[in-house]
Amino acid sequence: MVLDKPRQPLQLRDVEKPRPAKGQLLVRIATCAVCRTDLHVVDGELPDPKLPLIPGHQIVGCIEEIGEEVNSKFKVGDRVGIPWLGWTDDECTYCRSNRENLCDRARFTGYTIDGGYAEFTVADARFCFHLPDRYNDVEVAPLLCAGLIGYRSYRKTGDARRLGIYGFGNAAHLIAQIALCERRELFVFTRPGDLATQQSAKALGAKWAGGSDEMPPEKLDAAIIFASVGPLVPAALRALAKGGTVVCGGIHMSDIPSFPYADLWEERVITSVANLTRRDGEEFFDIAPRVPVKTKTETFPLEDANVALSRFRSGELKGTAVLVMDAN
Ligand SMILES: [Zn+2]
Ligand SMILES: [Zn+2]
Repeated sequence: MVLDKPRQPLQLRDVEKPRPAKGQLLVRIATCAVCRTDLHVVDGELPDPKLPLIPGHQIVGCIEEIGEEVNSKFKVGDRVGIPWLGWTDDECTYCRSNRENLCDRARFTGYTIDGGYAEFTVADARFCFHLPDRYNDVEVAPLLCAGLIGYRSYRKTGDARRLGIYGFGNAAHLIAQIALCERRELFVFTRPGDLATQQSAKALGAKWAGGSDEMPPEKLDAAIIFASVGPLVPAALRALAKGGTVVCGGIHMSDIPSFPYADLWEERVITSVANLTRRDGEEFFDIAPRVPVKTKTETFPLEDANVALSRFRSGELKGTAVLVMDAN
């Protein structure tokens, strides 16, 4: 499925099967989960995508061919996961200080390089992961971004005991399971009046769930914002105890309104999370099967990618949309 121009439906098209270059794997794709970032790309909210583009960056598949100079971590037939971070130069200041997520020349799967809404893809082997056996191809796909970048956001909250989560979508649902397993107290904020989501957060184990216009019963040590709604930043700040942190977990957010300095004072911090490192992936895929983190999914055949995207956009999905390549 190909994006020719932002704000247009994807086109189902036969494209040439890619060939693995030096350092790359050729992967026959089994599934690819749909991320909110895919919507931002398709809707033209992120600048300068590769065009035409095959979107998708939560890719699960099997290695069909291995390019030259790939280290021995992989063999033909292995199942691999391909995430958002697709390539880095390994030599800029950021890469050399363990911050490859900020690499000046980074390339991103399904954004600046072709991704997984397809039957085959090639990927730089350095950024591919082996996936835990306990998950099947559909279950594991949402872990590759909602899980990984959610996990990076969660780690930025340090050892916060009272943790707030604004926006209880895919990433929040996965990270909440790890937070509860690590005995954090969870406070979940949804759209005002979304009682069904508040109920499901409580059923999962949240200590409190309410609307984003409400104050939690206790001050929070940290809050993660997964919703792309700027006004949630000052709202979350006001819910923090002294020294607390607000982590913005998304790649795109509407503008943040101004707020009094008093809301930030007393060493409160606002930070953001960009992309992921390979280390985030290794840690997350070690911890996820032990919790175990469970995913909720809804599957679609590849050619229904536009349906999956529009149901995501309008909030009609009951779980993470996962495209399945051989559904027919
Ligand atoms: Zn770099
Ligand atoms: Zn993503």
